[in-house]
Amino acid sequence: MQSKPNILLLYTGGTIGMMKDFETGALKAFNFSKLLNKIPELKQLDCNIETISFENPIDSSNMNPKEWVKIATIIEDNYQKFDGFVVLHGSDTMSYSASALSFMLENLGKPVVFTGSQLPIGDLRTDAKENLITAIQIASLQHKGKPVINEVCLYFEYKLYRGNRTTKINAEHFNAFASPNYAPLAESGVHLKINHESFLAKANGKPFTVRKELDDNVVIVKMFPGINEAVLSAIINLPNLKGMVLETYGSGNAPTDEWLISALKKAIKNGLHVINVTQCSGGSVSMGQYETSTALKKIGVISGKDSTTEAAITKLMYLLGQQVAPAVFKTIYETSIRGELS
Ligand code: ASP
Repeated sequence: MQSKPNILLLYTGGTIGMMKDFETGALKAFNFSKLLNKIPELKQLDCNIETISFENPIDSSNMNPKEWVKIATIIEDNYQKFDGFVVLHGSDTMSYSASALSFMLENLGKPVVFTGSQLPIGDLRTDAKENLITAIQIASLQHKGKPVINEVCLYFEYKLYRGNRTTKINAEHFNAFASPNYAPLAESGVHLKINHESFLAKANGKPFTVRKELDDNVVIVKMFPGINEAVLSAIINLPNLKGMVLETYGSGNAPTDEWLISALKKAIKNGLHVINVTQCSGGSVSMGQYETSTALKKIGVISGKDSTTEAAITKLMYLLGQQVAPAVFKTIYETSIRGELS
């Protein structure tokens, strides 16, 4: 008989484990052990669950690369002992964290499922129970004693997504996430419908490695009609700035103003990596399709293709942290590393 899968549940913080401070009325993180008391149903699941919590759980607005390293290190330290990992995380920055972790966990051979909720677990109308229980079931999926999923995913409101394809789209709806350019990996209804063909292929026997170097000398700039030279130059000329994600219009378009193109051209010549992603919620950058993106292509702007901004900025931090040589940076960036672009 096959033994039950071992699942590690990691609580980093977020609404799922919060309660009301009755004096101020604000939601605050509380002791994780209380979370499990609130859901006796977990004992009925066909897996062994162990839990671990950040010493000081955080609202995910306080997430940062140091906290990502903490999550990655907990997974690294427990990798052999467990068959799957569920990371409970605030929804606000969950897509950034799932994207960052997807890059940091190289040759992952087990599922890492991020989830959270819009309402605290103790709330009568909570979405936390379904999200948590199904996320654990998904992390427990096995075929012939091996995990079915080998990637970082995000489960929310009946859908399992590739983590680095997601974005938070709503601050109130239970359906808070979307994956505009990649179909869900699984959908939960009466049955769990799994789209096996959408999963990342398993890393071919290469050893699992955790990459913890992330470079935060990066910025996201969103184009808007009226962006002026002084503002953009001040950003581009920041000392130590190494990478910039430029959220452009439509399929990667920007104003054709001389000052803009020459400022970017000079910065790229001086070693700044500029990534073009669209500020549209879906679709892809295709530089050269319009006159308004031809110059960007010519001066060496990197195409983020159909990546989300969350994936683009964390990939930039990761590749800079890996000290990828300037000569190959563009080629590597434009290649899918963890299924983050098509
Ligand atoms: N502010 C909370 C957080 O991101 C919201 C949530 O948990 O969904 O930590």
